[in-house]
Amino acid sequence: MFLSPDHELIRETARDFALQRVAPGVRERDEAEAFPHDLIPELADMGFLGIYHPTEYGGAGYDTLAFCLVIEEIARWDASLALTIASHTSLGSGHIALAGTHEQKERWLTPLAQGKVLAGWGLTEAGSGSDASGMKTTAVRDGAGWVLNGSKMFITQGSVGGVFVILAVTDRSKGAKGVTAFVVEAGTPGFSHGPKFHKLGMNSSDTRELRFEDVRIPDANRLGDLGMGFVDTMKVLDGGRIGIAALGVGLIRGALEESVSYAKQRSQFGSPIGDFQAIRFKMSDMDMWMEAGRALTHRAAQLKDAGRPHTREASIAKLYTSEHATKAALEAIQIHGGYGYTKEYHPERFLRDAKLLEIGEGTSEVQRMVIGKKLMG
Ligand SMILES: Cc1cc2nc3c(=O)[nH]c(=O)nc-3n(C[C@H](O)[C@H](O)[C@H](O)COP(=O)(O)OP(=O)(O)OC[C@H]3O[C@@H](n4cnc5c(N)ncnc54)[C@H](O)[C@@H]3O)c2cc1C
Repeated sequence: MFLSPDHELIRETARDFALQRVAPGVRERDEAEAFPHDLIPELADMGFLGIYHPTEYGGAGYDTLAFCLVIEEIARWDASLALTIASHTSLGSGHIALAGTHEQKERWLTPLAQGKVLAGWGLTEAGSGSDASGMKTTAVRDGAGWVLNGSKMFITQGSVGGVFVILAVTDRSKGAKGVTAFVVEAGTPGFSHGPKFHKLGMNSSDTRELRFEDVRIPDANRLGDLGMGFVDTMKVLDGGRIGIAALGVGLIRGALEESVSYAKQRSQFGSPIGDFQAIRFKMSDMDMWMEAGRALTHRAAQLKDAGRPHTREASIAKLYTSEHATKAALEAIQIHGGYGYTKEYHPERFLRDAKLLEIGEGTSEVQRMVIGKKLMG
């Protein structure tokens, strides 16, 4: 696919930033499980924390394709940081952009899209993941406001976020139609987070449990109509899955580029290992996965930007790139031999990071359920 000059410029800007600023400390951040606080203002200055949100609300005013280009370039080096950007933009901020009133967007979306504050999005609970409608967190009417009680599990930006969109049950008798979204700001009394999760990968992204104990918020914090939280959540996830797909493309590209570079300089039996057909075939497959994954991802992005249905396309792109990111990382480790099994080289981190893409924002099984439902009606 050919990119417009504007999109080319965004890609080049993101590529330079990733090389100059993101790549150098990526192994240390992974090892230390350290959130890159210093990079957030730089991302904000470039407009990368609100790339497709309207300029009226502090965003850069581009589109989902531009978002995918940025996510791919960052994920090529640091999937944790790409996850931070993607979840902030498409989940927390995305839900406010989708369902917020003008006043709510001015109040919350503007600082989020400007990158002054990071967003979190709380759907998952300890007992409800794939079947999110089984959530237990409640919001109960209390005079002019609401009182929230419950908890949310595995929330990205859990301790570094300032604005959270939280899904809660407002009418248990209505099932999924009794779920409503609310904005809860960090620092609201009764709202706290748990300790850092030590994860397999995505180590420098922040993942926490969120807790709500008699958290009082005004009705002005209700996002969207009463009972529409779950319907809006499905739309938010359609957009979020495009971001995860772009993350997968970046990881496949990382695995491929690291492999090509290593295969050129590593010699065995008197030849660079890249001269062996067995190694070339692995890299050819990775190249094909990258191109196919990028085409699927950009197609889903363009459908979203055109305001056309994209649930199936977002699921297909996410499913394809996430499963192939894991495969590509495994092949990259194989190509690196014993060195690939060490933390001296990138591929082992690519593998640990890629696995999350098959779980977050709907597991691979859930994506197949979404696609299957579209097929069977
Ligand atoms: C690092 C990280 C960051 C995350 N960030 C966020 C966030 O910011 N906000 C948020 O709300 N959530 C977040 N999550 C949660 C994530 O979306 C869930 O973990 C995911 O949706 C799966 O839910 P679960 O973990 O409860 O697994 P479960 O739903 O318990 O699934 C367990 C297994 O059963 C399978 N399964 C379940 N139902 C079916 C079925 N009907 N048919 C076939 N197989 C099925 C699943 O595919 C999976 O293999 C994050 C998770 C992680 C690990």
